[in-house]
Amino acid sequence: MIMVLKPNTAKNEIKNLSDRIREKGLKPVEFEGAERTVIQKPFKLASREHHQDTTIVKIGEVPVGNGDFVVIAGPCSIESEEQIMESAEMLKSLGIKIMRASAFKPRTSPYDFQGMGIEGLKLLKKAREKTGLLVETEVMDVRDAAIAAEYVDVLRVGARNMQNYDLLKELGKVNKPVILKRGISATINEFIMAAEYLLFHGNRNVILCERGIRTFETAYRNTLDIGGVAVLKGLTHLPVIVDPSHAAGNRDLVLPLSRAAAAVGADGLLVECHPNPEKALSDGAQSLYPMQLSKLLKEIKPICRAVGKGLR
Ligand code: PEP
Ligand code: MN
Repeated sequence: MIMVLKPNTAKNEIKNLSDRIREKGLKPVEFEGAERTVIQKPFKLASREHHQDTTIVKIGEVPVGNGDFVVIAGPCSIESEEQIMESAEMLKSLGIKIMRASAFKPRTSPYDFQGMGIEGLKLLKKAREKTGLLVETEVMDVRDAAIAAEYVDVLRVGARNMQNYDLLKELGKVNKPVILKRGISATINEFIMAAEYLLFHGNRNVILCERGIRTFETAYRNTLDIGGVAVLKGLTHLPVIVDPSHAAGNRDLVLPLSRAAAAVGADGLLVECHPNPEKALSDGAQSLYPMQLSKLLKEIKPICRAVGKGLR
C-alpha cells in the first residue's frame, strides 16, 4: 500500500515511520519527490489513497458514512420471542432504524447462555417484518455465514473473530454489509488488514467498529481507543462506528463514551439496550434502560451538529 506523507515532512519523522513499518516485519520502500515522500503500506483496498471519499455503506436504505451519525441499538442477545418483539417496539418508538441482537453468542464461559442459533434468527426476522426495523446480528462460524445473511440486513464479525480469516473470506462472498469489530488485542494495522480480507474477497460494504481493547486498566471492561477512531478515519475510507457498551461493561459509562464517539467524528454507534436489563441473559450490566437510550439520543444530537453531522 502507498502512504503519501504531507509535503515537507521532516526527515526524522520519515525515518521513524520507516522504522515502525520495519518493526512490523514489513519492508518500507521510499519514493522521494520534490515535495512529498511516499511509503508503501500493507493494505491497499481499505486505504484512503485507494479511495479518497469515505465509502457510504447502505444498511437497507440507511447510509452509513455519508456524513450523518447512525445509532444501531438493541439487546446483546435474542432471548425469546417476547423479549425481541418488546425490544423492537421499544427501539422503534425511540426512532431507531437498525436493531442489533445476537443469535450466536461468543461467551467466555461454556456454562453461560450460548444464544438461540437459527431459532433466534427466525425471531429476528419476525421482529423485522412486524416493525419494519432493519436488523443486525453476529456470525461466528463460517458454516453460518450464508444462512445468517438471508435473515438480516447487516452481519457482524465479533472481536474474537476479527482474525478468523476463513470467516472473513466467506463473508467476502456474501451480499450483505459487514460490521467488523476490532479484536481485543489487535493493532490498528491488524484491524485494517482484516477489513482488507473482506474487501479483497469481494465485499466492499465494510464498516469498522472500535469496541475497546485490552490494556492494563481494570476500572472498566475495555479501554475505548477513541484516538484509534480518528486514526482509522484518516487511514481508511471505510465508515467507522463505536461500540461504547463492550468498552464500558457498565451502563453508566455508555453515555460519556457515546458523546466522545460523536465528538471524535465516528459515523455512528452500536449500543446495547434492553427493555429489562436485570433479566438480560447476557451483558445486562452494560445494557441501557430504554430511558437512558432516549437521553443518549438527545444528548448526542448537539454534539453531532457541532461536528457537522445529522443524527439518524
Ligand atoms: C457483541 O456485540 O455482542 C459482542 C459480543 O461484542 P464483541 O465481539 O465486541 O465482544
Ligand atoms: Mn454483548
